[in-house]
Amino acid sequence: MTGAGSVRQAGDRRPRFGLIGDPVAHSLSPAMHRAAFRELDLEAEYVAVRVAAEAPGLVAGAMRRLAASGGGKGGGNVTLPHKSAAALALDESTEAVRLTGACNCFWLDGGGRLHGDNTDVGGIRTVIESMRGLDPRGASILVLGAGGAAAAAVFAGILAGAARVRVRNRNVRRAAELVERFPGERVRLYEPNGSTAEFDLVVQATSLGLAPDDPLPLRFSGPAPAHALDLVYRPGGTPWVSHARAHGAKAEDGLRVLLEQGVLSLERWFGCAMSPSVRASMQRALDSSRS
Ligand code: NAP
Repeated sequence: MTGAGSVRQAGDRRPRFGLIGDPVAHSLSPAMHRAAFRELDLEAEYVAVRVAAEAPGLVAGAMRRLAASGGGKGGGNVTLPHKSAAALALDESTEAVRLTGACNCFWLDGGGRLHGDNTDVGGIRTVIESMRGLDPRGASILVLGAGGAAAAAVFAGILAGAARVRVRNRNVRRAAELVERFPGERVRLYEPNGSTAEFDLVVQATSLGLAPDDPLPLRFSGPAPAHALDLVYRPGGTPWVSHARAHGAKAEDGLRVLLEQGVLSLERWFGCAMSPSVRASMQRALDSSRS
């Protein structure tokens, strides 16, 4: 296990928060959360903690060490590929963790029990509820992908009131397993009959788009759905956002989701709502990391 800082043992006076994943060096989360801590005038650190992809068995220990720092006031986030290992490490999970099988945010309670949430769900929900011109209540949503991010997008769509969510993935068996997590008629497999333009929103939740030579996750030959959200983000924007815009969609990448899940993480760790000034400081950190 390596990182921008080592994970100290319990007993540190200063709470430590960290992002556990592999890779983590590229992540904007440390800059974003450090900006929030400065704005909150909080003596806390936020570090990137690489736990090798081949070693998911080390995730639980890394989570507990971070959460126990500062007398049990620490915590953190989890990213690829460890969100399901993190979910399994919890003593207490939210419905979002149970339904998606993924945890991206953790902390301890006073009794030393490890709690976790999937704040990607709330982050995606906030973004789709605030997309200009989109009313997600009664909407029809197409989700691309079947991993943890796709599961979060499906649940976010349901919570936002979508009438119909369809899941499309390269590995169809995996998509079927995701659909089975959501009983009822609302969430089903995508069937390619008709144009994708019939959807109000398409959420791109595959990992395609980070590497320059990645294929597009979905290519539009005619009009795109009116709205498109790519959960992937990278400097200069993603090729799929440009493609969706070129086909008429109002499209954005995953940077706002990153911000909103980060705000929700702070609210879980500290048990209170974040002020607009904290959000603004996080936004500025993201903007300057991106430029
Ligand atoms: P994951 O569990 O590894 O799932 C990856 C998904 O991508 C699967 O559906 C996989 O399909 C698909 N995929 C990968 N390579 C593909 C290819 N060559 N062609 C077609 N499909 C391919 O990852 P995840 O946790 O769901 O995360 C997905 C992405 O969302 C990541 O890039 C992550 O950084 C991003 N994300 C962003 C935020 C944010 O705050 N903006 C939050 C969460 C996640 P198969 O099942 O067929 O392999």
